[in-house]
Amino acid sequence: MASTPETTPVATYRNYIGGQWTESQSGRTYPITSPASKQTVLGEFQTSTPADALQAVAAAEAALEGWANTPAPARAQVLYRALEIMGRRSDELARTITLEEGKPLADARGEVRRAMNIIEYAAGEGRRMFGYTTPSELPSTVAYTVRRPLGVVAIITPWNFPIAIPAWKMAPALICGNTLIFKPASITPFSAVKLTEVFEEAGLPPGVLNLITGPGGSVGNALVESEAVRGISFTGSTEIGTGIYAEGARRLKKVQCEMGGKNAVILLADADLDKALGGIVQGAFGSTGQRCTATSRVIVEEEVYDSFMEQLVERTGRLKVGDGMAPDTDVSPLSSQSQLDTVLEYIGVGAEEGANLASGGRHLTGGEFDQGYYVEPTIFTDVTPEMRIAQEEIFGPVLTVFKAKDLEEAVQISNSVKFGLSSSVYTRDLPRAYRYINTVEAGMVHVNAPTLGGEVHLPFGGLKASGVGQREQGVEAVDFFSEVITVYIDYADEARTPAPFI
Ligand code: NDP
Repeated sequence: MASTPETTPVATYRNYIGGQWTESQSGRTYPITSPASKQTVLGEFQTSTPADALQAVAAAEAALEGWANTPAPARAQVLYRALEIMGRRSDELARTITLEEGKPLADARGEVRRAMNIIEYAAGEGRRMFGYTTPSELPSTVAYTVRRPLGVVAIITPWNFPIAIPAWKMAPALICGNTLIFKPASITPFSAVKLTEVFEEAGLPPGVLNLITGPGGSVGNALVESEAVRGISFTGSTEIGTGIYAEGARRLKKVQCEMGGKNAVILLADADLDKALGGIVQGAFGSTGQRCTATSRVIVEEEVYDSFMEQLVERTGRLKVGDGMAPDTDVSPLSSQSQLDTVLEYIGVGAEEGANLASGGRHLTGGEFDQGYYVEPTIFTDVTPEMRIAQEEIFGPVLTVFKAKDLEEAVQISNSVKFGLSSSVYTRDLPRAYRYINTVEAGMVHVNAPTLGGEVHLPFGGLKASGVGQREQGVEAVDFFSEVITVYIDYADEARTPAPFI
């Protein structure tokens, strides 16, 4: 149960540096409130400064030698303990996510499960982490590769998956022997503290994981600019990610950025309409549309447009909007005042651009709605590809619908945005499904399934403005968080002539 200023003193949470829960050098904290209950203060968190960030970097540097030289299977044992602790604390973690980020509790439980899956998968890498051997072109020579950690890495994360996204960066980083500084989004530090507690309880040595809360513009930037930080894994907006990638390149760091999306579903006339409707409604309005893989556009083949629209509006109207803690809630509040402002602004833009508001569109007020940031699930039709609502990431429960005469036109519309994260087609026609797979511009392609989701042992990420640098998760995660070293051993008895050329 969340505390309120009137009933219980609000707890103050600290940074975690070098194995100690530490106050910021600023001496300042900031409050976090719940999106479903603006009056409920969940805690006070450190307003850290660049000096705190550099202290965390120094702690990570000091811990690096010990952790990098711990055998990977022994590092895995810490992750297995974290997995067990997370299982035991999963209800508490899920409730923290719902209180702080706002998503329905069932989604929050799914998020914790996802984090556990990645920790389990990464721990298994402790007994793989393969290099390879290959024949040398020279006699009496052995040639092979091994992996080494990058060193100190920064993990900079958004608020929409405050446990799963940090976990899917941290677990592979840790198994590869790196030490970390974790900079969560300013509006979700509570989940970050809990996740850090899990790793502390699992026995991670001091300094291997450090947590710093506070503003990205100063704290995050100090990490990006620090010469000691050799790798950066970022998820968030394309604008900030682009800046981090450029700055990282200038300083020759390894950087991966997972960024925005404008994901489209194509609905072909031969599809199972009922199945498609389920996937589209879930993709567009589940987690209040605040997923990078959310369905933001639907492109419908014209023969089935009218019957699809009729059923889409009917199903959307049945969604229950409310507090994420209530078991019957389908669509919970947006995560912050700033998200609410952005979404309402885009709804206004859609109307001004001449799109037809087919459903929703209102800021919900009155009763419990006054306590949080609620918007009706919203559908725009008569949308054309050049409109802003067709091009820009809204990150809320707003779906734009397009009509297309055939698959080719639908793919053209799908590809007409700067993003390329996730995509989906609904069809029973195998040749058309393959034509789609081969031409759609997206890092993740679904057939007869929503744009959402992904499994931790497969790569996750996007094309174009949706992602840059190596993919996350899957074996690619080990590629990102390690350096490959090539080893040649000459065991010949005599000196080699002539000497190698390069
Ligand atoms: P941001 O890109 O602003 O923030 C993501 C992370 O980067 C946060 O931890 C943030 O800290 C940090 N950060 C901000 N500025 C800097 C900087 N100069 N240097 C280093 N780190 C920095 O995303 P928001 O969370 O503000 O969301 C804005 C929009 O981004 C959303 O509306 C959505 O469109 C998109 N987004 C996409 C996501 C995805 O998964 N693809 C996830 C989240 C957002 P702080 O919180 O302190 O600002």
